[in-house]
Amino acid sequence: MLDILEEKWPEILDFFKKEYDIQDITFETFILPLNVNSYKDGLVKLVFTGNSGSSGLQYINKRYFDFLKISISIILGDDIDLQILLPGDSSLEEEKNIENASVSPLDSEDIILEKRILESHLDKKYTFDSFVVGNNAVAQATSLAVADSPGEAHNPLFLYGGVGLGKTHLMQSIGNFVLKSDPKAKVLYTTTESFTNEVIDLLGKQKKNQDEIIEFRNKYRNVDVLLIDDIQFISGKERTQEEIFNIFNELFLKHKQIVFTSDRKPNEIEDIADRLTTRFQQGITVDIQSPDYETRMAILKNHALSQGIKVTDDRDDFENNNIIEALDYIATNFVTNVRELEGSLNNVIAFSKINRVPITKEFAMDTLKVDNSEEKITCQTIINTVAEHFQITAADICSKKRSNDVAFPRQICMYLCRVYTDEKLETIAKYLKKKNHATVSYGYNEIKKAVETDPSTKATIDILKKKINPK
Ligand code: ADP
Ligand code: MG
Repeated sequence: MLDILEEKWPEILDFFKKEYDIQDITFETFILPLNVNSYKDGLVKLVFTGNSGSSGLQYINKRYFDFLKISISIILGDDIDLQILLPGDSSLEEEKNIENASVSPLDSEDIILEKRILESHLDKKYTFDSFVVGNNAVAQATSLAVADSPGEAHNPLFLYGGVGLGKTHLMQSIGNFVLKSDPKAKVLYTTTESFTNEVIDLLGKQKKNQDEIIEFRNKYRNVDVLLIDDIQFISGKERTQEEIFNIFNELFLKHKQIVFTSDRKPNEIEDIADRLTTRFQQGITVDIQSPDYETRMAILKNHALSQGIKVTDDRDDFENNNIIEALDYIATNFVTNVRELEGSLNNVIAFSKINRVPITKEFAMDTLKVDNSEEKITCQTIINTVAEHFQITAADICSKKRSNDVAFPRQICMYLCRVYTDEKLETIAKYLKKKNHATVSYGYNEIKKAVETDPSTKATIDILKKKINPK
């Protein structure tokens, strides 16, 4: 039984912290020093090894006892009783008293790593492995180089880009990578918001507690890798800027790695001291781009797989093809934010499970109810509209058939895709299942000429334009 508890302990701590919104400082002072002692007959015993001893224990029993009991019960799936004791207490189980509680033989490497991840305030799901590189090869490679030789390759690393594009993911991947590759490395992740709150709490007080201030500063200065997320929120906050400036200088001199993320470039962050902007630009500045269509599809396929749905490229498999079409629909309608992209897929998967309906494009459309008035015109819409107009199928258009009743509508698709979308020739070629993008270019030119010289082609195009874009 004890094995199970030990194995689940990191998960319990994680659940407890998130569920009850426990502040970092509280978590570190009172919760991390709790060690598992025993789990027998539905009774869990923990030992509190924190510096604050019995007064700390009293505080935990008063404030967090019930929350801890609930968290343990939920994660273990067992309605447990709980006792929290001090080292040396006679009711502790012999084999797990304090001498061997911190490094127990049961602590496998994985458990130790999980603890370090928690102490670093990282989320273990953000790794380089789970990051789809796609059109963000530069940002990914630079981050990997930094993770591989922290403090040496590029210092600081400044990652910037729009909301939901993977900045936090890449930054935390660096942290997780370093923890895994160097068992001694100390990594600390913080958001600028949480850092600012600490500054306000400690330095804004009337009666300042010097010990607390020293502890706070040491926490950030004794690390090998410091990750500060969303640094744009530093703007206008002088005290926070000063603290970050000092921490930066100290870490930098010691060749310790610093990584920032921001939604804009260093020189576009307003209301900050020039000396900070200079520091931010001192290493390397890399931007994270919105994912292109292929990257969006790859992210969706990956995400589907993580939910137990394997998607292949096999279009002949009916069920698989339906899912591809659904993913294509999502990838076409959610273009700028990976969080929204994944969220949409989550919704589709969840509703399909609840309603026991297979995932198809229609089901995705129904579930997501994208506002069509704002919907971007896509190659697929164009192909469908043209097919309908000529009373052939979309599959005909994308086939190898060369007869004029199909070849002409296909060239019209090439023309309209170029006019209405900003997809590259290669992408349009893919939609039309053509190997060569020069074919698309040729088709486009043919129709362009015809529109200028042949009134009937011009009339057809005008009708189609109205169908595609009625506004
Ligand atoms: P940001 O910090 O830039 O706002 P996040 O890093 O929080 O964005 O990313 C939002 C979500 O999208 C996260 O769940 C993240 O894992 C996922 N994500 C973003 N980019 C990628 C990518 N290239 N590959 C896989 N997942 C990604
Ligand atoms: Mg973020």
